[in-house]
Amino acid sequence: MTMAQQMGNQPLIVLSEDSQRTSGRDAQSMNITAGKAVAEAVRTTLGPKGMDKMLVDNSGNVVVTNDGVTILKEMDIEHPAANMIVEVAETQEDEVGDGTTTSVVIAGELLAKAEDLLEQDIHATILAQGYRQAAAKAKEVLEDMAIEVTAEDTEQLEQIAATAMTGKGAENAKDTLSTLVVKAVQTVADDDGIDTDNVKVETAVGGSVAESELVEGVIVNKERVHDNMPYFAEDANVALLDTALEVKETEIDAEINVTDPDQLQQFLDQEEKQLKEMVDHLKDVGADVVFCQKGIDDMAQHYLAQEGIIAVRRAKKSDMKRLARATGGRVVSNVDDITEDDLGFAGSVAEKDIGGDTRIFVEDVEEAKSVTLILRGGTEHVVDEVERAIEDSLGVVRVTLEDGQVLPGGGAPETELALELRDYADTVGGREQLAIEAFADAIDVIPRTLAENAGLDPIDSLVELRSEHSNGNQPYGLDAYTGDVVDMEADGVVEPLRVKTQAVESATEAAVMILRIDDVIAAGDLKGGGTDDGDDDEMPPGGGMGGGMGGMGGMGGMGGAM
Ligand code: ADP
Ligand code: MG
Repeated sequence: MTMAQQMGNQPLIVLSEDSQRTSGRDAQSMNITAGKAVAEAVRTTLGPKGMDKMLVDNSGNVVVTNDGVTILKEMDIEHPAANMIVEVAETQEDEVGDGTTTSVVIAGELLAKAEDLLEQDIHATILAQGYRQAAAKAKEVLEDMAIEVTAEDTEQLEQIAATAMTGKGAENAKDTLSTLVVKAVQTVADDDGIDTDNVKVETAVGGSVAESELVEGVIVNKERVHDNMPYFAEDANVALLDTALEVKETEIDAEINVTDPDQLQQFLDQEEKQLKEMVDHLKDVGADVVFCQKGIDDMAQHYLAQEGIIAVRRAKKSDMKRLARATGGRVVSNVDDITEDDLGFAGSVAEKDIGGDTRIFVEDVEEAKSVTLILRGGTEHVVDEVERAIEDSLGVVRVTLEDGQVLPGGGAPETELALELRDYADTVGGREQLAIEAFADAIDVIPRTLAENAGLDPIDSLVELRSEHSNGNQPYGLDAYTGDVVDMEADGVVEPLRVKTQAVESATEAAVMILRIDDVIAAGDLKGGGTDDGDDDEMPPGGGMGGGMGGMGGMGGMGGAM
């Protein structure tokens, strides 16, 4: 039977019975509503005076945070368009580590402004085109506005580090913490660039945030394997092993036939002898400390203690890497092969107690290309939130050192963007002009929200900001503490250029993608295609859209409770 024959007498059914479909303006407005809802959920956290959110999961775990991406990750968002906005925050987090709330709020506002134009029958394709043009222009404007920073300008780097912490739990101690963050990033920087993985962040509950410290070296969250081992070693040669200090035969289930007690004793003696030889070999090459990624046999522990060697077992692989980097040692897979050259060196290795936890500190390393930041705080929730702020802060310092370009904060770049984009729109004309103007209006959401969250009158603040910028005072922004419009650079509120360019870029991409959708089909199982982040299965098969909207309803309820 051909298709034409079938079409002759009954409608052609393409979709299965239980699939759902929403098309045209309905689809657009449904997606826009979902996207806006996500932005709305984080909007009140923006800026130094932003509020925090308490997120509670089914089993009662509580997270208190001000961090946009954390909020969105913890919220159980199901709607596919809403998830596209969440991805904006995730991209921002991966690329720069800060500016997640900003990016999401801009994306939401781009959708809101688009909605007005769609109602005026401006086609989504024109909107998409205009938004893209505006974003390209925005990038130029931001780049023109940027100020150069050098790697040696520690003071400015500290301001950048501190700006990323404002409004977060870390704020009270931001002077101490920003000094530590900048020092940490500067220390791990090498010819290959900056890998902030070499800055390990350890948290310890107890004490105050201001008591946080930077250890140039590595802290391993373990203790000495045997009580008779020394607590510390000075000028220590460090052996790094990723193999067990055990006798190999016991690993493969060998069967030993013992016929008399002497034989058993002989066998045990033999094992002991081998372990003793291993330890002797470590002693001979000069090891004072042994970090072992695997287990250490009881007998070997005993011999090591006897030789006065400090040993740690089951160290994490990531710690082994850091230890190698810090001490200049090499991780060895066979104890018999280890030589003097494989050993690393540390001026001090010591077991210490922080916040009631025992850890091994490996310090005074020649070239500390690996550091540990110990964050302290009164309670677990406090240290967790400080840790998130520090991650943002490490990110912005890294990005600044990489790019060497920063912008004043406090809504200064956004105000400038909105102004210049409006001028630019006039030169474009046509229907795109309306889209570019809408984009400019959307960007204003950042200074407006900063003012609102600081309890200021947003209209007054915007008027003042615009008037300064019209007079050519580009670095003028809103000081959220005093409510004054001042030179943000002089005020020490500075952020990397990339935070803003990335936020505008990914917000635009997501908004355009959502706007261009005019047909939503709940497609059963999407195989191979769809979003590639493994979230595909969150879209329920069959009545997918219904379930999705239910999810948004749940989110709305959550928003109300916050
Ligand atoms: P995000 O997740 O986008 O980084 P934040 O809550 O960290 O959100 O807020 C960032 C915004 O707060 C930026 O626009 C930044 O310029 C602004 N900001 C930071 N410190 C100040 C300040 N002292 N006064 C005014 N705005 C500030
Ligand atoms: Mg921030």
